[in-house]
Amino acid sequence: MSHLLNVDTAAENILASVKTLAAETVSLAEAQGRVIAQDIVSPIDLPPFDNSAMDGYALYSEDSKQASRAHPITLPVAMDILAGSAPSAGLQRGQAARIMTGAPLPAGADAVIPVEDTDDDWQDDGQKGDSAAPPKQVQLFRCLRPGENIRRAGENIAAGARVMPARTTIGPAEIGMLAGIGCAKIAVIRRPKVVILSSGDELVDIHQPLEPGQIRDTNSYTLAGLVRQAGGVPIRLPIADDSLDSIRALYRRALDINPDMVISTAGVSVGAADLVRIVMDELGDIDFWRINMRPGKPLAYGTLRGLPFFGLPGNPVSAMVTFEVLVRPALAKIAGRDIRQRKVKARIDADMGSDGRRGYNRVTLERGAEGFIARSTGIQSSGALMSMVLADGLAVIPEGLTVAPAGSVLDVLLLRDLD
Ligand code: AMP
Ligand code: MG
Repeated sequence: MSHLLNVDTAAENILASVKTLAAETVSLAEAQGRVIAQDIVSPIDLPPFDNSAMDGYALYSEDSKQASRAHPITLPVAMDILAGSAPSAGLQRGQAARIMTGAPLPAGADAVIPVEDTDDDWQDDGQKGDSAAPPKQVQLFRCLRPGENIRRAGENIAAGARVMPARTTIGPAEIGMLAGIGCAKIAVIRRPKVVILSSGDELVDIHQPLEPGQIRDTNSYTLAGLVRQAGGVPIRLPIADDSLDSIRALYRRALDINPDMVISTAGVSVGAADLVRIVMDELGDIDFWRINMRPGKPLAYGTLRGLPFFGLPGNPVSAMVTFEVLVRPALAKIAGRDIRQRKVKARIDADMGSDGRRGYNRVTLERGAEGFIARSTGIQSSGALMSMVLADGLAVIPEGLTVAPAGSVLDVLLLRDLD
């Protein structure tokens, strides 16, 4: 087994050879799910001004001292401040200003008493103040602390402070903050364009009838899904047949698209390999690796006209597993995303066989009293895609073992979110 390349070494070499794409500018409405390219610094205070957190009366907290329901304090109402307006004057000691939630605090005021703690019954009669004129005076039913019910300018984010660091993935809350600071356009890492190639005389696309000896191409579909999931833009090209001309034409067409990565499946195993290898040698600088993993031993990696190229095995499960282990982290780095693989520890419920290579067995995961329990999804043939359909993750059987005994705790690479 010593002539087989270690999985981690292969993954590290691949990762070291790719780099993150440059930025492009998108409008905020298109930014969800994208990765920001630079730290975002707020150009303004948010909120931009001190404002009221309640519908009520702005006042000097000192003026509410000793107020209670039994002994209310009465203040004249000097002004009415609506949301979206600006107070024309400051508040004097001994005065109150009727104020709406989000309306600017008048200068001098340092607290807002909620309307329900006053004798104003504007909520009882269903009128929310906005239309009705304010009362001449207001009774305070309690005492206020300085700062109570006030949202200070800049308390959400201060001008000059970092709103979010580079490499943040933009979700709904981030979009809201960016809108709040007036960021209409945003620099995000370009999404990698990934061309996906398949070849084989036995393969037909989904719209064609199956003739004897034929199967449908599944790899270009699973790989397109994986690329999309990893933040890339997949481009599937039509299947080439097993002829030099057809494969050469396909590869040329792929490079003409000017992608950021090329992934092909099939034709890299010894024997069937020849045609694809000839074309790869013509167009690029490719190493053929025999990696110490199961499934997925044969793998071609290198550059085609300078672009990162993966030649994955043809077997549908092998193609997906090698993507998970070797392509996904590289694509994540290119896309500016987190390269860490998501994994959990799980106890296997039964013996799991391997052959001394590092095994990636398809398992379901169930949360037990003492952590996760992993169960085989059944037939583990590298052609049996159902083993992936059923799987929550890939249980990793360390190198050197032919069996992982029932009860062993293994790393499991997650293939989906667990609920
Ligand atoms: P090869 O590497 O060409 O010897 O292919 C290995 C196995 O993978 C064979 O059983 C192929 O039929 C199968 N295979 C190759 N390409 C695909 C594909 N795009 N979709 C589904 N199966 C494939
Ligand atoms: Mg083939």
